[in-house]
Amino acid sequence: MSAYVSPWMDEELSIFRDAVARFVEAEMVPNDEQWRKQQHVGKDIWRKAGETGLLCTDIPSEYGGAGGDFRHEAVLYEETARRGITGFGQGVHSICAHYLINHGTEEQKRRFLPRMASGALIGAIGMSEPAAGSDLQGLKTRAVRNGDSYVINGSKIFITNGYLAGLIALVVKTQPGTGAKGTSIIMVETANLKGFRVGRILDKMGMKSQDTAELFFENVRVPAANLLGGAEGQGFYQLMGDLPYERALIAVAGVGAMEGALAETIQYVKDRKAFGKSIAEFQNTKFKLAEIATKTRIARVFVDDCIAKVVAGTLDTITASMAKYWVTETQQEVLDECVQLHGGYGYMNEYLVCRMFADSRVQRIYGGTNEIMKELISRAL
Ligand SMILES: Cc1cc2nc3c(=O)[nH]c(=O)nc-3n(C[C@H](O)[C@H](O)[C@H](O)COP(=O)(O)OP(=O)(O)OC[C@H]3O[C@@H](n4cnc5c(N)ncnc54)[C@H](O)[C@@H]3O)c2cc1C
Repeated sequence: MSAYVSPWMDEELSIFRDAVARFVEAEMVPNDEQWRKQQHVGKDIWRKAGETGLLCTDIPSEYGGAGGDFRHEAVLYEETARRGITGFGQGVHSICAHYLINHGTEEQKRRFLPRMASGALIGAIGMSEPAAGSDLQGLKTRAVRNGDSYVINGSKIFITNGYLAGLIALVVKTQPGTGAKGTSIIMVETANLKGFRVGRILDKMGMKSQDTAELFFENVRVPAANLLGGAEGQGFYQLMGDLPYERALIAVAGVGAMEGALAETIQYVKDRKAFGKSIAEFQNTKFKLAEIATKTRIARVFVDDCIAKVVAGTLDTITASMAKYWVTETQQEVLDECVQLHGGYGYMNEYLVCRMFADSRVQRIYGGTNEIMKELISRAL
């Protein structure tokens, strides 16, 4: 296939990509099976990723980050997605860091970001609740100001990095009954936190090594200084402001997975024989590969445009929603064909495309479901 190089790549990023790919191959791929069995990736890999300079790559160096931009983040998402590494929740970690950099007070940035960049503090986002997923107006977790603290009661579900997280950007109601205006984000440090409990690591269809968990808060006291940005009632606006970044990131991982699966499948059909020739020689195989290579290229070009827009600060919510919706739907179509071309082996967990297929399903659900994406897009038409 003719080599397509993303227009945002340059020499420095190529060197960075090589280093990331080596790290993924040496430190992640060999451990993935064990991670899937234990349902989490453990804290060591976060430390190693921090030491190698792979965390918070787009956070300024004065706060401990690498001082790069979204292109560096994109390289990390792509290289992990290509190898089917879905348990290491660096995307959510980065979104959490972005809440701080975009909305945090100076003191909050200095207190949390350097530890996030080193991997000492793993970030999570606590938004969803049993009765509030797409409709965040239904949030019930309550934070009540009491002297210098907030007292938090409630629970969260489906929280990525929930078991390992040391810092949760927790979305709470500070003034119930006032809709979006009554919502705030409180940065909750979980170490030795009285009244805080991690429930089950949830048993999922895919992403088996991701510690997606339930979280419980019973009279949990958090310093009032942890209210993101220092003013109550800003939570909803803070969340909305960062949505394009979050959705771009899901699309980047989607196209990375498609590219990885395509490369793996091309190799497989060349090696596998039936009826005295390689599977790659059947016309159906050639046409299917042509179709998925074309879909992957279209997704790549769209995502590259989004990456450039994130770097320029011009990615709007509608375009980001289009990318999240279309790329993740296409990702599933592509993965489905890759499984089919692998025959029975494509249904076996030891094969990359099998794990990728199961892992990809949730891309259409989290980060705002694709139905919500279409709702948003249609409102702008
Ligand atoms: C693996 C995984 C990781 C996750 N990680 C996180 C995380 O880190 N932090 C976090 O806060 N949350 C996380 N989530 C939660 C995720 O964001 C929600 O599951 C998602 O927003 C959908 O909410 P819900 O599950 O309550 O579904 P519901 O909102 O109950 O939706 C059910 C169905 O109804 C449809 N629907 C709802 N409203 C409308 C509408 N207005 N128009 C048309 N259709 C509609 C939905 O599209 C969906 O098909 C995660 C979920 C999973 C599965």
